[in-house]
Amino acid sequence: MCSGRVDLEFVLRAFSNGMDGVFIGGCRLNECNYITHGNYHALNMVLLCRRIMEHIGLNPERLRIEFMSSAEGILFAEVMSEFGNKVKELGPLGKGEGIDQNELKSKLAEITKLVPYIKVVKNEKLASRLENPEQYDKLFTKDEIDKLFSEVISYYIDPEKCQACMTCAKRCPVDAILSGKNLIHIIDQEKCIKCGTCFEVCPSKFSAVTKISGEPVPPPIPEEKRTIVRKTKKEKGEGDKE
Ligand code: SF4
Ligand code: SF4
Repeated sequence: MCSGRVDLEFVLRAFSNGMDGVFIGGCRLNECNYITHGNYHALNMVLLCRRIMEHIGLNPERLRIEFMSSAEGILFAEVMSEFGNKVKELGPLGKGEGIDQNELKSKLAEITKLVPYIKVVKNEKLASRLENPEQYDKLFTKDEIDKLFSEVISYYIDPEKCQACMTCAKRCPVDAILSGKNLIHIIDQEKCIKCGTCFEVCPSKFSAVTKISGEPVPPPIPEEKRTIVRKTKKEKGEGDKE
């Protein structure tokens, strides 16, 4: 219904499914019936996605957004015919750019996995309202997006600090934390969407979750070393007396 509902993930999914071009039609800017003005959000998402496409070697002209009213049938037909011709001219997705199909698939899968992270990191810009088309190119720059992917953050639970309080596992939105009573917690890096919730909620007295950027994540602690052996109250008392 609203172009603002078109998520970055939907566009990447269309390309992953082999679409050669994606067109998004939104209501005219400033004519939204709601206070949300989702078409501005759609515009920002497209500007971001076009930079991402550039980053992975795809021609950004394969993605287009236009704003028009439902009464502008002729304009719609003209735009669609122009876009269709452009996509034909660009050729099949990836082939036109000389990218190997398997390589393209894995790049798109990698980026799709990072969508929640990208949205968190670029949250402010995605919510901005660009009134002037001259601002479009500057909202996201190529260098900025290259940097974004070279500095992707990972989250890691320090086995020396984790006290298995289970707070992070309960709050992780995608069940990416291997949890268990008295078991040092482990983040499944394949499942993690890098939302940062575990980092935020780990109690400060433990501060067991760390952010890692530009370095490989240490391997998880072996299963047999995960159990935390806690002292009983009695043992603690004896320890105090010593
Ligand atoms: S960052 Fe933490 S909370 Fe977020 S998905 Fe990854 S493991 Fe889960
Ligand atoms: S919130 Fe922190 S201390 Fe608690 S289980 Fe998670 S990483 Fe460990």
